[in-house]
Amino acid sequence: MLTVMKFGGTSVGSAEALERAADIIVSAKTNRVVVVSAMSGITNFLIAALEDGAEHAERVFAEFEERHLSVAKQLLEGDRYDAFLKEFEERMDRFREVFSEPANWSDPYFRDCISSQGERFSSLLLAHLIRTKGHKSEALTSEQAGIVAFGQPLNGTCDLERTASGMGMKVKPLVTSGVIPVITGFYGINEEGKPLTFGRGGSDYAAAAIGNALDADMIEIWTDVNGFMSADPRIVPDAVTIEEMNFSEAAELAYFGAKVLHPRTIEPARMKHIGVKIKNSYHPENFGTHIHNLRRKSDSRLKSVAMKSDLSIVTVKSGELAYRIKLIARIVDRIGDADIPVYAISTSLSTIAFLVHNNDVTRILGSMEAIRHEIEGIDVKSDVSLICTVGDDLLDRLGISGDVFGAVKDAGANVEMISEGASDVSLNFVVPTESALEVVRCLHSRFITGGCE
Ligand code: ADP
Ligand code: ASP
Ligand code: MG
Repeated sequence: MLTVMKFGGTSVGSAEALERAADIIVSAKTNRVVVVSAMSGITNFLIAALEDGAEHAERVFAEFEERHLSVAKQLLEGDRYDAFLKEFEERMDRFREVFSEPANWSDPYFRDCISSQGERFSSLLLAHLIRTKGHKSEALTSEQAGIVAFGQPLNGTCDLERTASGMGMKVKPLVTSGVIPVITGFYGINEEGKPLTFGRGGSDYAAAAIGNALDADMIEIWTDVNGFMSADPRIVPDAVTIEEMNFSEAAELAYFGAKVLHPRTIEPARMKHIGVKIKNSYHPENFGTHIHNLRRKSDSRLKSVAMKSDLSIVTVKSGELAYRIKLIARIVDRIGDADIPVYAISTSLSTIAFLVHNNDVTRILGSMEAIRHEIEGIDVKSDVSLICTVGDDLLDRLGISGDVFGAVKDAGANVEMISEGASDVSLNFVVPTESALEVVRCLHSRFITGGCE
């Protein structure tokens, strides 16, 4: 049996948190491969350092070093601390070298390289701590572990096949010989040998990719809440933990804003039918959430509600567009060539509307230039949010969408776009961002905690 255990930022964010994580790891009964995020706040700190520029390098190094060494001093002593320090200095030298070389700053993958530095140090801390508990452990960077990525800067995709062969050679033998590998999450190595990150929160996806590559039996995501909940507990304080979900339900919610999982976490697990557990590192005794193949009915009409903000609706208009399938294909093709993620599409006789991130509006407008002569106009409505509701038999239950939209009306919101029927587990729609929180709370109280039938 092999379990991949991923620990998020808060679960490795302090000496106490690292102690808890190490105890959870050593008490596991199966073979394990550990994946870590950077200590909480470190990735944001590194991104801010990139904004501040190279002239602040010495302050950045000093603060970065202090944050990690102060924790190391609380956890390790004597020879163990010295052994840690030796590896720490080697990694720190490499970080200094890359950050201080002016020529590197214009490299398209430079931001990936710097923002992923935190994982290299949290993994080192945890591996050395596991050793103090009498187990063999080794910290591996994604380079050393053989995690291969491709794609645009800050938005990588894991090459599962090549990762499987790399990890088969580099990680499997360690596990077989009783070593607990602690691997950096968040990034892989692209064809040029450069770090490429998987987007913010990408360590969940890295863990799923590693689970896929190693044919693991379970992927555990250790975080700071009791599991996948009926809504973000920061928005809905009485949100409840969902004990079981199926892959599609979790994937839809993660893609549409449930931050507890990186949007792409589920697919590498689903492909190989590997269960995903979400557990609370502060309360390991809690069951958490088990995500698997089977679909179980829930007691409430909706299971969970998520929201994704900072979106825009871009509507392309052309007379009788519905009859001109080839023009629709050209419009979609242009967006595809520009590699713009689209969160929903809806059509009418003369319009096709795309839901995209606010930051992608300029690019989508630019992508239409080449076919501008075939289009009558483009409208943009910015600052909207997508609400994703997941529940049992949403398509088959009579009146459920009417009830959901009734609740949206009671929350005082106007529905700007609807996506229903494309998935049998979710009903998604778009509202103005200023009413989105109220809509989530209203749906939650009416259909989840309210127990309304
Ligand atoms: P980690 O650092 O462990 O990766 P994240 O901050 O990325 O943790 O994700 C955990 C957070 O996700 C929780 O603290 C919670 O606020 C938020 N969250 C959003 N939606 C949900 C949800 N449906 N269930 C649980 N947590 C959620
Ligand atoms: N440290 C990275 C981030 O903050 C990756 C992760 O935490 O999953 O985005
Ligand atoms: Mg996360």
